[in-house]
Amino acid sequence: MMQASTYPLLDASEVASLVLERTPVLGAEELPLADCWARVLAEDLVAPSDLPAFPSSAVDGYAVRAADGGGRLEVVGESAAGRPFPGPLPGHAAVRILTGAVLPVGADCVVMVEETSEHDGWVEVPTRLEAGRNFHRVGDDVRRGELVLQAGEVLGPAELGLAAALGFPRLRVHRRPRVALLTTGDELVEVGRTPGPGQIVDSNRWALLGALQEAGAEVSLLGIAPDDRVALRSLVQDALLDHDVLVSSGGVSVGSHDLVKPLLEELGEVHVGRVRLKPGKPFTFATLPEGRLAFGLPGFPVSSLVTFEVFVRPALRKMQGHRALQRPRLRVRLGYEAKAAGDRTEYQRVTLVREDGEFVARTTGSQSSSRLLSLAGAHALVRVPPGDRGIPAGAMVEAIVLSLPA
Ligand code: AMP
Ligand code: MG
Repeated sequence: MMQASTYPLLDASEVASLVLERTPVLGAEELPLADCWARVLAEDLVAPSDLPAFPSSAVDGYAVRAADGGGRLEVVGESAAGRPFPGPLPGHAAVRILTGAVLPVGADCVVMVEETSEHDGWVEVPTRLEAGRNFHRVGDDVRRGELVLQAGEVLGPAELGLAAALGFPRLRVHRRPRVALLTTGDELVEVGRTPGPGQIVDSNRWALLGALQEAGAEVSLLGIAPDDRVALRSLVQDALLDHDVLVSSGGVSVGSHDLVKPLLEELGEVHVGRVRLKPGKPFTFATLPEGRLAFGLPGFPVSSLVTFEVFVRPALRKMQGHRALQRPRLRVRLGYEAKAAGDRTEYQRVTLVREDGEFVARTTGSQSSSRLLSLAGAHALVRVPPGDRGIPAGAMVEAIVLSLPA
């Protein structure tokens, strides 16, 4: 039976906010630093101590009193990193000091080795010495009690280093969404196999796996589901036992083999069944019991990736506690005439080229929803509003930046 879809055609912007409204932020887990990279911090980090914790030399040289400048001072010992000079600095004396070592009590300045000469246990230092030179004071970098990282910040290299320096071996971070990825279609074969008559290679699985990994998801590959109601249902039900999100490809457009929408209707509530979007009109979104989400992406390769980009990626980022859910936007000059797609907003794929101090967007060629080459190497998406006017070449438009050119 072939029947026109009864789902209302919703605007893409309406769908984007509807999806985010229904997307939960996942809870936190405590992880060792080794597993925290790129995670979102789920707690504020307050410095439990000062950094540095002791006055430490910034150079190799001699720890002295500035008031002793101009004299020959007896070198009474050494302070090396991790091996402090025991006791205070005696009067009219110097302690040889190495970078990162503790400034002895009583010293108020470090003279750089280049400005001195040492002979037979005595060192000559310049006349004018300035108290406070060449060492870091306690708390110069971080003060005890200071809020150093806030919940919601992403843990990059500097943030991880800071956490370690302050003595946190483990951090509370948001959980990553566990996503079950399923491709549907009787025509699909595994990559590496030779397709038989009418068959095609399942490429969406690998495209979506990459997109999911970039978005920070933990992905389980469920493989290919046949266009069979019972088989699909049992695969999906099993997957939902231990996943937060189901992402499927195919089986959402109108036709007798499109089984995803009715299945999601059975299991939960379908909020979106059609979007005024090109490519990606049949995009489907459902909520399932216990805060789980299901995204039914269209089968055409570009449609599945564009709808992922527009609707799924921001939701996965919200789940992980990210503050920035959207890609960065950039004003660029349109380097071609963009024709509108009638009643739908079109996300056209472009490359960006630097010309005379601005970015110019060039089309990636045919924007067919099956043509992955329109997305491969694309730097950005340009939104062309519905209607019959399009956007003239030379106009300034907002580009949704996927990556900037080198
Ligand atoms: P569907 O949404 O299931 O009707 O799929 C629409 C079209 O997308 C199919 O006719 C295929 O050409 C293509 N397609 C579906 N699934 C995949 C897939 N996993 N990999 C590549 N192309 C696919
Ligand atoms: Mg199909």
